[in-house]
Amino acid sequence: MSKTLADELLKEVKKRRTFAIISHPDAGKTTLTEKLLLYGGAIRLAGTVKGRKASRHATSDWMEIEKQRGISVTSSVMQFDYEGHKINILDTPGHQDFSEDTYRTLTAADSAVMLIDVAKGVEAQTKKLFQVCRKRGIPIFTFINKLDREGQNPFDLLEELEQVLGIRSYPMNWPIGMGKELCGVYDRTKTQVELFQGDDHSTIAVRKVSGYDDPIIKEMAGDYFYDQLQQDLELLDVAGDEYDYDLIRSGELTPVFFGSAINNFGVQTFLENFLELAPIPTTRNSSNGPVEPTEEKFSGYVFKIQANMNPAHRDRLAFLRICSGKFERGMAVKHVRAGKDIKLAQPQQFLAQDRDIVDTAYPGDIIGLFDPGIFRIGDTLVQGGNFVYDELPTFSPEIFAKVVVKNALKHKQYQKGIDQLTEEGTVQVFKTIGFEDVILGVVGQLQFEVFEYRMKGEYGVEIQLQRMPFQFARWIVDEKIDPSKFRINSQLVKDKNDNYVALFENEYAMRTAIDKNPSAKFLETAP
Ligand code: GDP
Repeated sequence: MSKTLADELLKEVKKRRTFAIISHPDAGKTTLTEKLLLYGGAIRLAGTVKGRKASRHATSDWMEIEKQRGISVTSSVMQFDYEGHKINILDTPGHQDFSEDTYRTLTAADSAVMLIDVAKGVEAQTKKLFQVCRKRGIPIFTFINKLDREGQNPFDLLEELEQVLGIRSYPMNWPIGMGKELCGVYDRTKTQVELFQGDDHSTIAVRKVSGYDDPIIKEMAGDYFYDQLQQDLELLDVAGDEYDYDLIRSGELTPVFFGSAINNFGVQTFLENFLELAPIPTTRNSSNGPVEPTEEKFSGYVFKIQANMNPAHRDRLAFLRICSGKFERGMAVKHVRAGKDIKLAQPQQFLAQDRDIVDTAYPGDIIGLFDPGIFRIGDTLVQGGNFVYDELPTFSPEIFAKVVVKNALKHKQYQKGIDQLTEEGTVQVFKTIGFEDVILGVVGQLQFEVFEYRMKGEYGVEIQLQRMPFQFARWIVDEKIDPSKFRINSQLVKDKNDNYVALFENEYAMRTAIDKNPSAKFLETAP
């Protein structure tokens, strides 16, 4: 490798941090993202990151559903610079209506920031997204938000992380008071106190102290909070987990930060600690073994395909995570699955809703490629090579509906639509045995709407979806399957590769089936 390119790659990779924020709606993700972008000087974006209050729709050319509902259907990517770092935030839809795309986006992140509302603790969506990150073993940083409001006791929150999520924690700072009485936080690693001042909690004074028992804290916070802090931190020192960088890196211990995003309190400290502790883009597994980001040859994989950003042109955008080498506009790469050489002529980078043409990009970055229908989720692009990256995980559907085609004459288009949309990962498709009825499985309701919308818009097929009462899907691996054992509150179907899948209405039905079929394996996703 040429010395200069090697140096350049090393330098650029070291600068990069690519992460996703995982949270439940309303925890403050948009607010935190805005504050982070402000540190990067991307001021023009403040207040418009999500723009969900209809303001954006005047200029946006995003798909119709998004316009009608004012939600972010798709994950966008934001990049900003901070003190020599290049930071990529992968946005995940903030609404209930998240989809498999949300999960898949997490595969493109090197770490995650888990945002928790101090009053609400760990919520449903956070839990789901956490589990995906957990499986990947990426580091997870926790920001406990809204400290300016009355919330749960910090110890209870740590306990909840352990009980509900099964992750141990190390508080990097600790609140002094809370809600109206919040004075500030004690920073355990820097042994300093960060103080709120003024009614709006906006001014921050930082005071170096000798330890949490420094009398200066008493002067600043008063006897009551000083005593409380002593008690809390003594308890943490004795009973809390120790700081362990290796455990943080393997995602088994989460550094916890307390703050208030809206007041910009604790955000900068969080950002600085995060940049120090979060991993740079690392090795990714491929059919050729591990690929280093600093490898000279450009490579990456498609983790998401976004359709109909512009309904007039029906173009699609494939989101590519760069894993190695340097990307240059116009470069020729191999589309490995298709066995074709293609030119990456009009790549785009995302900064909230503004899409700019990108000339160069490095590992950790995400670029959008114009897709005339040649990409599928999981596709690998390589410069002068032939390997493919490990397959993306699939996720167990939780919501099901039967498809009814309104006009039987459209069968051909319907079939084409099903094949194409399944391939893109819009929905998972199952067929009943014998009747071959089509059942769709998704993780979020929105996927149904996207499916229905695109079937009509792109294939001219009007469909009706009839919700089914199932909640779980399990792929069954067994020598011989007895369909009669899957009748009560369940149904046996086949997936697109003819694997047997049992759909269950409730946990009890699933348990019963598992007990009745001791020789079978019940898998959450396709084998
Ligand atoms: P998202 O749904 O996770 O993106 O949440 P938003 O960022 O839209 O925030 C949800 C609500 O919580 C908004 O009304 C915010 O103004 C509010 N919020 C965000 N951060 C804080 C905070 O630190 N303190 C308080 N009191 N409210 C906050």
